[in-house]
Amino acid sequence: EISQRLRTIGDMVEQGHRVADIGSDHAYLPTYLIQKGIASACIAGEVNRGPWQSAARQVRSVGLSERIDVRLGDGLDVIHPGEVDTVCIAGMGGSLIVSILDKGIEKLAGVTQLLLAPNVASPLVRRWLLEHGWQLSRERILEEDGVIYEILEAIPGNPTLPYENQEREREDLLEVGPYLWQENSPVLRKKWEQELDKLRSVQIQLQRAKKPEAEGKKQEVSKKLAWMEEMI
Ligand code: SAM
Repeated sequence: EISQRLRTIGDMVEQGHRVADIGSDHAYLPTYLIQKGIASACIAGEVNRGPWQSAARQVRSVGLSERIDVRLGDGLDVIHPGEVDTVCIAGMGGSLIVSILDKGIEKLAGVTQLLLAPNVASPLVRRWLLEHGWQLSRERILEEDGVIYEILEAIPGNPTLPYENQEREREDLLEVGPYLWQENSPVLRKKWEQELDKLRSVQIQLQRAKKPEAEGKKQEVSKKLAWMEEMI
């Protein structure tokens, strides 16, 4: 059984799409997509030899070598333009996801769905989408084994944020996620309670430090704390 996180990503893929899973590790996501009849074909990309071999082994062991092409290479280097409809990048930090998208941007021509699951720094990913002509179209948040995950979907088109200029400013929406903010689920609230706790302990540390250099940082932390307390 694959994780609830990967299943959630898999179930967001458009029916019949050709999918590239970048940083596929064991190729569990492509395996799920083919076995469930969601994707018509998959590419599993891996930059590291170990995970690339695990992916190839997994694909062979389930007899899907005809449907899942396991390729060794950096980011979007493993796909040709027009070869896939959906690109999934999951289980890495937001800054790595953004650098993969930046480096391979010309490979995204013809891609009609992005599924991005940053394990940290999702605001960086939302901002990248907005600045590169991608419309954030769905967001999910879930908790599994005590860890909270976010999944972002984008489609080409109108790069605006939903709910902007209603009650929230653009920066706040990028930070929280517009759909997540609108939905205001218990998992989202838990995530921000945790962030709040972390930041409060940083503030205590800073207050103890009494260094003049810490002044700027103190102000920054107080500002962010005020913002979060207001938000949740
Ligand atoms: N996508 C799977 C998931 O969400 O469960 C695996 C996540 S695993 C933590 C991250 C994988 O990304 C590793 O196997 C790593 O080798 C791969 N990776 C890191 N940077 C990459 C890059 N630039 N191109 C392709 N794969 C990369």
